[in-house]
Amino acid sequence: MKLLQDQVVLITGASRGIGKAIAEEFVKNGAIVAFTYASSEEKAKALEAELTAMGGTVKGFKSDASNYDAAQTLVDDVMAAFGKIDVLINNAGITRDTLLMRMSEQQWDEVMDTNLKSAFNLTKAVQRPMLKARKGSIINMSSVVGVSGNAGQSNYAASKAGLIGFTKSIAQELGSRNIRCNAIAPGFIETEMTAALDEKVVQEWRNSIPLKRGGSPVDVANVAIFLASDMSAYVTGQTINVCGGMLM
Ligand code: NAP
Repeated sequence: MKLLQDQVVLITGASRGIGKAIAEEFVKNGAIVAFTYASSEEKAKALEAELTAMGGTVKGFKSDASNYDAAQTLVDDVMAAFGKIDVLINNAGITRDTLLMRMSEQQWDEVMDTNLKSAFNLTKAVQRPMLKARKGSIINMSSVVGVSGNAGQSNYAASKAGLIGFTKSIAQELGSRNIRCNAIAPGFIETEMTAALDEKVVQEWRNSIPLKRGGSPVDVANVAIFLASDMSAYVTGQTINVCGGMLM
């Protein structure tokens, strides 16, 4: 039997990058995948087709994770489609990087709403079905920057640090009901976004990491599989850094 056989997983922001890799690896491990995206309709349709061709059961939903009512509607729709939600992965995230001196209120609010409020919205919405099932695993995608801070990313770092506090609190609130909540803190993960950067700059980053390479989205997905599955049945309230040793 596969590690996530017949487990229903809801992943926010899976049209590309880390979320997409998580959707792919979860299907390979037997999961039924519901995923969301904000606007990448074509990429979402392509992912649905790809995962279905792999033999997976999958459905993409256009849903704004930062919208409280939309999160409730989404969870109702996923319940109607698949009958349960075993795992929630709060992965959707954005950056609006700039120094505090130049940061607008809008740049602060957009990052907070998409990265942090979204986790409240979705966790609140899945709470009822998970409580009823007396079972669940919630995984929040934080960042090493949420632990260390980073100049030019005060909004992003604050949202990712907030996710860690949220994770620990939910783990304490829901542990007695067999609902676990953990965070993943990725470091420098090489995606389409980083492929557009200057190769010299990227190489300098790689050299500064103990494992001497950037991470891949699959490196992050593998830790998500662990946290979603019963392999981590006694792990809750933790933040696992997936950063090649960048942060110790
Ligand atoms: P990405 O490639 O930019 O993808 C972001 C995903 O989130 C897309 O699917 C996007 O959908 C979706 N999204 C954005 N706003 C949304 C909203 N309001 N509602 C629903 N979905 C929304 O990002 P990534 O690099 O894979 O990162 C994924 C997560 O890991 C983020 O939380 C990020 O902060 C975190 N992380 C990434 C790194 C890294 O090095 N890449 C490092 C540390 C942490 P559309 O395509 O429709 O816009």
